[in-house]
Amino acid sequence: MSRIEISNLVKMYGSHQALHGIDISIQPGEFCVLVGPSGCGKSTTLRMVAGLETISGGTVSIGDRVVNGLRPKERGIAMVFQNYALYPSKTVYKNMAFSLQLSRMPKPEIDRRVREVAEILELTPLLDRKPGALSGGQRQRVAMGRAIVRDPEVFLFDEPLSNLDAKLRGLMRAEIKRLHQRLRNTIIYVTHDQVEAMTLADRIVIMRDGKIEQQGTPDEIFHDP
Ligand code: ADP
Ligand code: ADP
Repeated sequence: MSRIEISNLVKMYGSHQALHGIDISIQPGEFCVLVGPSGCGKSTTLRMVAGLETISGGTVSIGDRVVNGLRPKERGIAMVFQNYALYPSKTVYKNMAFSLQLSRMPKPEIDRRVREVAEILELTPLLDRKPGALSGGQRQRVAMGRAIVRDPEVFLFDEPLSNLDAKLRGLMRAEIKRLHQRLRNTIIYVTHDQVEAMTLADRIVIMRDGKIEQQGTPDEIFHDP
């Protein structure tokens, strides 16, 4: 569990200023949702925390380290995207094991982690299947499993449910919430869906035009007189 501190974060794309110096402070284990209309700068913020986008100004700290200059791998994060590209020719087991194999983790430890996470996500009966034989919701669970096995300090989610139908979205929302209650990692979750934001968040950050319009707990934001 790590604290995340975003200070005066600025992003320029050429002469276009996408972020105007935003500040967000996320406590260890907190579920923080960035919400706002398309183009307001949510993804850019997330990608800068992930190290997938250069920082034009300001700082990002994870735990007690400023990570501005660190590569994605060095930041202790795992990311889940909306188009969760699974390896189509690998089984569910291999999809989850792959990044651990690359890190040269001993095989018994890989096996232990994959099985434990598969149990949590109810993927155990599907371990030998390939992605093509799974439903959309099952594939999304594999994508999450692949991130969870790495036991990251921080999880970054970029619209992970936006390709699913309404019913599955509801189910997955509940699942993500349950997972967070169990694992308690620090999360930044990007969505344009207010319902998703309200159900999931400990802290909501409402963005507009590269600025923060409002932030606080769901209660503070939605039940203010
Ligand atoms: P959101 O995730 O809220 O939809 P983004 O962070 O993707 O918003 O985009 C914020 C702003 O930055 C938008 O005006 C968008 O057009 C611009 N932008 C995003 N990525 C790039 C890029 N690679 N090059 C130029 N402009 C970009
Ligand atoms: P590669 O194709 O990269 O050589 P393998 O197919 O041999 O990899 O699988 C890599 C490892 O993952 C092996 O140790 C294999 O036993 C293990 N593995 C793959 N699928 C499963 C599974 N369903 N249950 C347990 N272990 C599995």
